[in-house]
Amino acid sequence: MNYDYIIAGAGAAGLSLLYSLLQDSELNKSNILVVDKDTKQQNDRTWCFWEREASHFESIVNHEWKTLEFKTEEFKRQFELEEYSYKMIRGIDFYEFVLAFAQKFDNVTFCYESIISIDCDKEKAKLITENGEYKANYVFNSTPIFNPEITAENSLLQHFEGWEIETKQPVFDEKVGTLMDFSLSQENGATFMYVLPTSSTKALVEYTLFSPKLLDKETYKTALKNYIKDDLKIEEFEITHEEFGVIPMSLAKFEPSPKNKDRIVNIGTAGGYTKASSGYTFQFVQTHTKLMIEALKQGKSPVVSPSFREKMFHWYDKTVLDVMLTKKMTGKEIFSIMFKKLNPEKILAFLGNQSTFWQEIKTMNSVPLIPFVSSGIKQFFSKN
Ligand SMILES: Cc1cc2nc3c(=O)[nH]c(=O)nc-3n(C[C@H](O)[C@H](O)[C@H](O)COP(=O)(O)OP(=O)(O)OC[C@H]3O[C@@H](n4cnc5c(N)ncnc54)[C@H](O)[C@@H]3O)c2cc1C
Repeated sequence: MNYDYIIAGAGAAGLSLLYSLLQDSELNKSNILVVDKDTKQQNDRTWCFWEREASHFESIVNHEWKTLEFKTEEFKRQFELEEYSYKMIRGIDFYEFVLAFAQKFDNVTFCYESIISIDCDKEKAKLITENGEYKANYVFNSTPIFNPEITAENSLLQHFEGWEIETKQPVFDEKVGTLMDFSLSQENGATFMYVLPTSSTKALVEYTLFSPKLLDKETYKTALKNYIKDDLKIEEFEITHEEFGVIPMSLAKFEPSPKNKDRIVNIGTAGGYTKASSGYTFQFVQTHTKLMIEALKQGKSPVVSPSFREKMFHWYDKTVLDVMLTKKMTGKEIFSIMFKKLNPEKILAFLGNQSTFWQEIKTMNSVPLIPFVSSGIKQFFSKN
């Protein structure tokens, strides 16, 4: 069977693309094969992101915040969001939502197999799994098959353990999310807690680090226990969900399409849509999905080249990451300066690739010149 599209990997990017294809009155007639080794029935991650307008996935937003907080031991800044909302979607809600919608279409086939390779010639793309071979006009790949090598020289790892906890007594203010609490030991790299209350008795607390190496399992758990007891002042709680994640924050080049393989489109993290300076991915996947759908509707190749502005944001990200990788400044120092000096909503616009050039000049002016200029020049001339 020849498919129009094969979606290789049914995670955030693969299912966002599937949902958008099926929402379109022309593209939803295409023959689509979705291949994943996993059936996506676990709540394996929680996505948070900020956006100005509601997306396709508004109905599964679990909670949203209009007030956020940034903290260190020296200062605390609580701020109201006017344009943006900070939102949370649970992985399992997202998978179930898209998969239930796709069940309505006879032209969508799911195949739960491990992908071994993906290749193409001028006419067709070919995907080989442990059990078979499938062909399509395009393969949209979010598996790590074509990922560049991640090394300690080119990347930091964003690693975290998150616990959703429930208390008997009301202790949280569900209107206020803590984006970053840096009032922790920084001995293992940039280290902060993320506290997102979804009710007065429930919150996701995440111990997050940007560093070259992972810690041993117990260290994350001890840090979470200590923070909940000493900082949140909670003695009794139940852990209702646990998640662990490692996201590459990398200078390595994630290609939009593997070299000379134009019928393979890398999407999601594999396509370079994980922001090098922050690890956020979900909102960039949505922007990329829209661009691919527009291209397909116009009969063009869905391999969309980054625009001039996207290249600029990529350069800013690489510069910030280079400053951290070369230890010119710590993550805590960089984020503290920005949250002390700048309008926090403008920081979110900058981190979301939605700022104006004038705001970017202001952001650059807020950080120390020497480390950023030297990393900026280095990254400007780097090939990635
Ligand atoms: C725990 C966790 C929390 C995160 N939280 C946030 C957040 O709050 N905000 C944010 O913006 N980003 C977050 N991220 C980062 C990013 O958004 C996610 O990693 C996101 O899922 C990336 O989407 P993706 O489609 O590229 O990859 P995935 O969602 O990982 O999808 C890839 C799919 O490919 C499948 N696959 C891989 N290899 C093969 C193979 N050989 N054969 C068959 N199938 C294969 C996998 O099973 C998977 O379903 C988080 C990541 C993790 C791990």
